[in-house]
Amino acid sequence: MRFDTIVIGGGLSGLVSAIECARAGQKTAVVSAGQSALHFWSGSFELLGNIDGRPVIDNPLGRLGELSEDHPYRKIGEEKLRELLGKVPGIISDAGLKCTGSLDRNHLRLTPLGFLKPAWLTLGDYVSFAADQPLPWKKVALVNIYSYLDFYPRFLEYGLKKRGVECTISNVNIPQLDTLRKSTTEMRATNMSRILTDSAVDALAAEVDKAAKGADAVIMPAILGIYSDAPVERLRNRVSVPVWFVPTTPASVPGVRCQLSLRDLFIRLGGEFLPGDTVKGGYFEKNRLRRIHTVNLGEMPLEADNFIISTGSFFGHGLIADMERIYEPVFGLDLNVTGGRTEWYRKDFYASQPYMSYGVVTDSCFRPSRKGETVENLYATGALLAGFNALKEGSGAGITLATALHAASSLT
Ligand SMILES: Cc1cc2nc3c(=O)[nH]c(=O)nc-3n(C[C@H](O)[C@H](O)[C@H](O)COP(=O)(O)OP(=O)(O)OC[C@H]3O[C@@H](n4cnc5c(N)ncnc54)[C@H](O)[C@@H]3O)c2cc1C
Repeated sequence: MRFDTIVIGGGLSGLVSAIECARAGQKTAVVSAGQSALHFWSGSFELLGNIDGRPVIDNPLGRLGELSEDHPYRKIGEEKLRELLGKVPGIISDAGLKCTGSLDRNHLRLTPLGFLKPAWLTLGDYVSFAADQPLPWKKVALVNIYSYLDFYPRFLEYGLKKRGVECTISNVNIPQLDTLRKSTTEMRATNMSRILTDSAVDALAAEVDKAAKGADAVIMPAILGIYSDAPVERLRNRVSVPVWFVPTTPASVPGVRCQLSLRDLFIRLGGEFLPGDTVKGGYFEKNRLRRIHTVNLGEMPLEADNFIISTGSFFGHGLIADMERIYEPVFGLDLNVTGGRTEWYRKDFYASQPYMSYGVVTDSCFRPSRKGETVENLYATGALLAGFNALKEGSGAGITLATALHAASSLT
C-alpha cells in the first residue's frame, strides 16, 4: 500500500498532523498501536504553565527566551508558534469539541486533587477560572456517585475552601448504575458514561438537583459524554444550577472522547486509520525512509513519500529503557541520552528528572537522525522529542500540537 504520508502513532500528536495532511488532500495513513496519553487526559491542554517552579499566567509565548536553546518551542519561534497553535481551536471544534482559552493568558483549571494549575485550553464543561480573580461561587455542591472511588470530594473541598468557597458533599445513586456495582472494578467513569444516556441521565439529574439545594453550582466527576455532548447538555438542562465537571483518574471520559473525535475527523477527511498495529521497522535508502513494516501486515510493506513518527515517550513506548540503555525501538533514532543508568534519574523524587527530557534529537525542521545522518523524509513530533520536561513546565499538549502542526506544514 502506498501513501503520500504515513503517521506512526495515533495519540494527540499523530492524529493532529494526520488531520492536517489529509485536509491538504494528501493520501494519509495512521498506524496506531494502542492507548495514548489522551486516555489519561485532564480535559485541559497545557502550553507553558511553569518556569523554574513559578507559575506562568500572562503571555506564555513571550517567555520562550527563558527555555533552553534546544527546546522545541525555541526551534519554532514565537511568531510561527502563534500561527500554528492558533489553528488548534478550529481543529478541536471541527472534531466536535468545545474549548475555552487564549494563547495570550493562561487560565487556571481545577485538578482532581483540588489544586489550581495554569492551562491554555480547557473543555467547555470543565471547571476553570480566570487567574487573579475571585471564584464565581460562594457555595458549591460536590456531588459524587454512590460507591464511585475515583473522585475525591474532600480534596476538592480543601482546595475550594482555601479560596473562600463553602462546599457540601453528597453521594447520589440511580438504579441504572447498580449493574456496575456487581464488581468494584466495573465502577469506572468510562463504564458509567456508556450507561448514562437518555432516561438514565434524567434520573441522575433529578438526584443531582436534590443535592444541589442552596448551592450556586454543582461540581461532579466527569462521567458523562464519552461519545457526544448530548448527555452533558441533557443533565445540565435538568439541574437548576450550573453543573461543572472535574476529570477523574483513568480512563478519562474527556480523553477517550477527544481521541475518538480526532480519529473520526481524520477518517471523515479521507484518512486511513490502522488501529491495533505496531510499526516494527523500516527500510532506508540514501537517508530516506522508503517503507515500513508492521506486526499485522507482516511482509506487506507500507510505502510513502514522507513519514511522521509520533510514538510518544516512555509512556507510549516511543522510548524504551532497559538496565543498560535507552533507545528508540522503531528505527534506532539518535537520542539526547547521556551517561549510564545512575545519571538518568535523581534520588529526590520531586526534582526535575533527567529522563523526562530524553527523546529524539532533530534538526530545526524536526527531522531526526540515525547515526548522525538526518533522515530527509521523516519528521518526529510530540512527546517523543528531546529537550523539554512536560511535567515540570506544564507544556505537554502545546509542544505536542505545535510540533505536529509544524511537521504537517512542512509537508503540505
Ligand atoms: C499519563 C499522561 C497524562 C497526560 N495528561 C496531559 C494533560 O492532561 N494535558 C496536557 O497538556 N498534557 C498531558 N500530558 C502530556 C502528553 O505527553 C501530551 O499532552 C500528548 O498527549 C502526547 O501525545 P503524543 O501523541 O506525542 O504521545 P502519546 O499520547 O504517548 O501517543 C503515542 C501513540 O503512539 C503509539 N505507538 C507507540 N509505538 C508505536 C509503534 N511502534 N507503532 C504504532 N504506534 C505506536 C502508542 O500506542 C500511542 O497511541 C500527559 C502525559 C501523560 C504521560
